[in-house]
Amino acid sequence: MTEVLYFLDCYLKEFEATVEKVTDDKYVVLDHTAFYPESGGQPSDAGKLIREEDGAEFEIIYVGKFNGDLSHEIALAGETESAVLKAGDRVKGVIDWERRYRHMRMHTATHVIANVIEKEAGAQITGNQLGHDQSRVDFSLEAFDRDKFAEYEKIANEIIAGNHPVNLHLVSRREAEEKLSRLTTLAKGFSEEINEVRLVEIEGITIEACGGTHLKNTGEIKGIKIEKLQNKGKSNRRMYFSLLD
Ligand SMILES: [Zn+2]
Repeated sequence: MTEVLYFLDCYLKEFEATVEKVTDDKYVVLDHTAFYPESGGQPSDAGKLIREEDGAEFEIIYVGKFNGDLSHEIALAGETESAVLKAGDRVKGVIDWERRYRHMRMHTATHVIANVIEKEAGAQITGNQLGHDQSRVDFSLEAFDRDKFAEYEKIANEIIAGNHPVNLHLVSRREAEEKLSRLTTLAKGFSEEINEVRLVEIEGITIEACGGTHLKNTGEIKGIKIEKLQNKGKSNRRMYFSLLD
């Protein structure tokens, strides 16, 4: 199984690895990787692999988990068929950092704003989807007072400006269950068979199980703006937010 380097080091932008398997010339499995696969509402990383032997570059357009493999999809350039990766090749992986860092800001911001909505409004978070310009948080809340969201935005931005350190802990599933009163929605990516759980702690604010990539400090989010609130019927609500640059 591929060792995932982003689990404890979300700031790793380059790494060296060995190709373990290539399917259809374009689905590449490495012995370890810092590329984040699409999961938990966070889009996959993009970037490139550079073969050590000849410097040939392979653009990575998608990373996903398939049948237990963490697979990097390469954009095939029609005429350069001679440049195909094969098992045993040594490569350097380079993450598209602008894209990844944006997702890290969005992801850590989601923990902050979701926590505020849970605590202040008593909402239950039901889902989230990160994007480049806007991200979405879905929640369940019966009494929906739109006016209060300006206040929630203010509280979230105070937490962000409070420069809270964000810590990652790898713990056993049992330890995680003891530590957390409940595994939140963001933890749903963890299957029952997984015995090791990654906890993401925003010091003094929240601790939850999550496999996504995170900032080291809430200050790096800079700030958020709630863009839109939607009523999806019954008690289902949806909120879109953007980042302040
Ligand atoms: Zn997370």
